[in-house]
Order: sequence, then structure tokens, then C-alpha cells
Amino acid sequence: MNEELNKILRDLPSVEELLEEPAVASLSFRFPRASIVDSIRKILQEIREESFLSASVPDKMSIVENIVRRVEKERANSGVPIINATGTILHTNYGRAPLPKRTLKKAAERCSGYVNVESDLEKGERGDRMKSLRKKIALACGAEDALVVNNNSAAVLLALMAISNHKETVVSRGELVQIGGGFRVPEIIEQGGVILKEIGTTNQTYIEDYEKAVTEKTAMLFKVAPSNFEIVGFTHSVSVKELAALAQEKHIPLVFDLGSGAMFDTERFGLRHELTVSEALKDGCDLVCFSGDKLLGGCQAGIIVGRKELIELLAKHPLLRIIRQDKIAEAILTDIIDSYLDGKGEELPVWELIRTNVETLKKRADDIIKRCSDIPLYTAECASVIGGGSMPNQTLPSVAVSIKYDDTDELAKEFRLSYPPVVGRIEKGHLLFDLRTVFPEQDEILVQTITTVMKERK
Ligand SMILES: *Cc1c(COP(=O)(O)O)cnc(C)c1O
Repeated sequence: MNEELNKILRDLPSVEELLEEPAVASLSFRFPRASIVDSIRKILQEIREESFLSASVPDKMSIVENIVRRVEKERANSGVPIINATGTILHTNYGRAPLPKRTLKKAAERCSGYVNVESDLEKGERGDRMKSLRKKIALACGAEDALVVNNNSAAVLLALMAISNHKETVVSRGELVQIGGGFRVPEIIEQGGVILKEIGTTNQTYIEDYEKAVTEKTAMLFKVAPSNFEIVGFTHSVSVKELAALAQEKHIPLVFDLGSGAMFDTERFGLRHELTVSEALKDGCDLVCFSGDKLLGGCQAGIIVGRKELIELLAKHPLLRIIRQDKIAEAILTDIIDSYLDGKGEELPVWELIRTNVETLKKRADDIIKRCSDIPLYTAECASVIGGGSMPNQTLPSVAVSIKYDDTDELAKEFRLSYPPVVGRIEKGHLLFDLRTVFPEQDEILVQTITTVMKERK
């Protein structure tokens, strides 16, 4: 290293010095010290490396600015609360169903001390894990029994592994789908050591295809709800009822990966009819698997309901220990299921968002625009989606606050990087903030963010 460069590097501020800079010091109110130190070290290292080429180092103030920017950016990419103005109600990237505060308070009370997750207090020994939640779910769904695991992918894997036992699982080629990132039905089936017997074609599968495929080597029939796509045109698929009749005749179980898991009639809220969990059971499914954080409106969980002897078979499988539900999730899910048992499921946040009528949204949009005076905003009629692998091609009429701007991509990015991040969607050159997924108590923050971001742009 040459003399001159050495001298330049000697002038570089130390980590300690930088930590004392007011702008950096104030970060420590919001971020753990170790993360700030880590960012500073990385930035100093980068400066040292670059100095070989440029034979110079940036001044202290620009280093400080760099540190603040870096730390803030990392925060934006970690689990911070955001304003979801995308209009997608169950957005997998934003944690799917928002949870009721009251539920979280109860969970906090329950889990901050010790909690009886699997003890039989009467006998004073180990009991069934989460027995009461299982009973409640069974009651809410009209099922003989229920089981809960970490997520629906795990629920499906468990059902396939426990039942198939190296025999064949019959599934339609039209249902060998990928759901979101990483859940590919054929891969899950193979992971489970399950032998896949594909039948029919992508667009057409008939009951005869199933009949022909069932032999003494068949363990089960497996059906997957087309949760995030629709095959339209020249299509045919076999209904749950038809499949259930065949399964019964052949003395094999029918397992249905329902995906979303609506607990009541979605038509009540202007949506297309979606097979509910209890309807799937009534139609003759032996087991139904669904997610806890989709239309159920709860936390991440995989719920399996159905016939008692099958649920018991699953409960005894060694895989269950690996995918078992956590006590916090159990506390949350219990309160969510209680809401359904109380007939108050539609008061859960997901359903509040779905139920909000367009007039209410229109009023809020007008009000937001009025409060953002001098900023060119418009109300726009638009369409929200359910998302999260629920109800494909199904939209709800909605209202957005719309911004016309030359570079909407750049503008959208600036909103995403503000605090709290506001995520909208771009439609035909406009940046839309769809109010269906914005909670009314967030309107004020939206006004402030729009005002700040747009004032700087003038
Ligand atoms: C969403 C979905 C899954 C995956 O559920 P997770 O709870 O995200 O693991 C599986 N199958 C179907 C049909 C789905 O819609």
C-alpha cells in the first residue's frame, strides 16, 4: 500500500466516532446497536476497497448519510408494518390475513406466562396436544375431529404421508399445480414418498379416468382446489360429490386440499360461491385441508378436518412432531375459531375489508383528497382481488386515490421506501392507492405520506 493512500485511510473516521454522530446516534432509538455497528463496518470496508481505485475517501458527512440510508433501507425490508394499498386482501408478501388486536392481546396474556398446551391437569400427566382447539375446530366445521399443524402445505404433506403408505395416490393432471412460491403439488407428493398416479389431462378429467386408475394399489383419491388459477374453455373436472361416491364404493379415502377454507357463504358479500369447509365435508370428503391465514382470517396454520380414525392416524405419524403448531399460533387460532363459534366470523378484519361498501370507500377517498390540498389526486373506481391463492379471477368493486405522474414506477418506489411504507399498484400509468385494503385509521398516515412525498416533487 502506498504512503499516500495510507494517509488518506488514516483520516477515515472510526466506528466509535461515527456512532457518536447525532444522525447515527438517533438511529439507536429505533434499531439495535449491533445492526448499526454492522452497517458502519460494512460501509467503511467498502470505502477502503474503493479507495484503492479512487485514491480518495468520502467526507464524514457523506459517510453519515450513507449509514442512515443503509440502516433505514434495511428496516424497509424487514418485518415492518406497512400500509397495503394494493387492493389485494390476502397478500402473501404482506402476511396474508391481518389479525384483530383483541386476539393478539389475549394471546399475549396467555403466552407471557406458562400455558397448558398438552397437559391433562386432572391426571397430572401429559395429555393430547391442543385438545380444546381441535374440538372447537371440529365443532365449527361440523367435522368428527380436527388437527392443526404449521401451515397448509405441511397439512397436505402429513395427510399424504400418513395415508398413502407407499401406495398410489390418484390425482388429476389438471390439479398438479404450483401454489405461490414453492408449493408444487407433484413435488410435495413425491417428497412424501407417495406414489403419484396422474390421470386425465390438463383441461379435462372425467370420473371414468379415476375409476380406471383405482386398483388394489390405490391408497387414496386426492383433490386440489384450483386456488390461484382458472382453466377456461374446453374443460371438465370431477365434482367432490362424484369423487366421494367413488371413494366410498372403493373403500378408499378422499382427501381434499381446499386451500382457502371459507367458513361461511361468500355469496353474502358479493363474491362467487366458494365451497366452504363444512360443505366439502358434507359432500363426502374424508379429510379437508386448509390454511389458517386465508379466508379463515387467522394466523399461519394448516388445519385438517374430517373422519376421526383418519385424523388419529395423522396424529400418530412421526412427521407431526416436526410440523406441530406453536403455542402463540394456537392462542391466536383459538380466539379466531371462538369468533366463528360465536357467530362473529364476519367481524374479523379480513371480512371487514371484504364487506366494506363502495360508498364508504368513495367518501374516504374524497376526504383524503380534500386533506391533501394542492396535490393533483383523483378518485378512481377500481377492482380489488382476494389474492393469497383464494378465489381466482374474482374481484370486488373498490375505490382508489389515484396519482398521475410521469414516472409512476419511481414514484411508487418512493412511497414504498417512506415510513411506514405505502404500497400501491400501478394501472395504466396511474399510481393507485386502493382503499379497500387500507384500514380507516390509516387514512391520516396516508394523507401525511402523500403530502410529504408529493411536496418534495414539486
Ligand atoms: C394456499 C394453498 C396451499 C398452501 O397453504 P399454506 O398455508 O400457504 O402452506 C396449499 N394448497 C392450496 C390449494 C392453497 O390454496
